[in-house]
Amino acid sequence: MSQADNPFLAIAAPWIAGLTPYVPGKPVSELERELGIQDSVKLASNENPLGPGSRARAAMNLALAELGRYPDGGGYDLRRALAEHHGVSPASITVGNGSNDVLDLVARVFLQPGVESVFSEHAFAVYPIATQSVGATARVAKARDYGHDLDAMAALVTDKTRVVWIANPNNPTGTWLTATALKSFVGSLPPTCILVVDEAYTEYVSEPDFPDATHWIETFPNLIVTRTFSKAHGLAALRIGYGISDPKLADLLNRVRQPFNVNALAQAAAIAAISDREHVRASVELNRAGIKQLIGGFDRLGLGYIPSVGNFVTVDLGRPAGPVNDALLKRGVILRPVGNYGLPNHLRISIGTEDENARCLAALEAVLAA
Ligand SMILES: *Cc1c(COP(=O)(O)O)cnc(C)c1O
Repeated sequence: MSQADNPFLAIAAPWIAGLTPYVPGKPVSELERELGIQDSVKLASNENPLGPGSRARAAMNLALAELGRYPDGGGYDLRRALAEHHGVSPASITVGNGSNDVLDLVARVFLQPGVESVFSEHAFAVYPIATQSVGATARVAKARDYGHDLDAMAALVTDKTRVVWIANPNNPTGTWLTATALKSFVGSLPPTCILVVDEAYTEYVSEPDFPDATHWIETFPNLIVTRTFSKAHGLAALRIGYGISDPKLADLLNRVRQPFNVNALAQAAAIAAISDREHVRASVELNRAGIKQLIGGFDRLGLGYIPSVGNFVTVDLGRPAGPVNDALLKRGVILRPVGNYGLPNHLRISIGTEDENARCLAALEAVLAA
């Protein structure tokens, strides 16, 4: 049904008509069903090719026995474990059904019709959706070299701005901001404006001046930092993430949070995953080798790319990505078109295993030569 044909729009909140749903990476099962193929490779959703670590798996097995009961709605053990890990108080933690959930809580608490949020061109697609879903207005700053231009963003902040969204590093560009630049930006914001620093990929980054913004929450009460177990911890299907902020900010988020938003398997797995440094180390190492492998392939094929510090890299095909993507799908390789991010000639490739990366490069070479 086309949007215009939907009679419920007449009674929906007016801003709902302009919303388009988030488009996730195509599931392997869907592609294989559609094309009648097998053995396809999905490098479309920045998932960890190693999946969960052994400690998380064991914790989930134990938690199975209690699935007849509701989870701990307050996430007592999980928040204590996270608080200890970050050296903050448990009252600073807001748990979410994925970190997307926490982004949505921020929007529900601080955004409404008549106020504004600010983010960058090519920024994570959830920021415009969260903004528009509550009827607030998005102000989009021009990017600089595909990354966030903090001066351009600061220029859009007014007394109507309630939320600024920054992913560091950003998805889908893999660009990042230095500690110096980001800290001076947060210090320049008025106290009436919340800054969300989305650190979904932080574990992958080893640049010397890359910030850990969780260290700044005592200095900046209007700062919230979000983290996730979906990427380096390999728990994407469980849906678990969290925010770290001043306890007074967390208090408001917890007022609108669904009571049982994080399920019991996720809580158990996350507690075990936090201390599994070996799994994160192995995941980061595999990622580093994989990025090298892909970039080497792009160089061979004469393709440009946006330098990335995440677990993905966005390649410039120098021509519209749609037909290339369709041809790759027929070869069982699922990548992510990023036209909706203002990058119509690019495809985002999540870093996979050595074998998956090789299959992706071979398919890309064949499709581009055809
Ligand atoms: C993947 C991603 C997230 C994580 O989402 P979850 O809901 O925690 O799975 C958050 N922010 C960005 C920028 C991402 O790319």
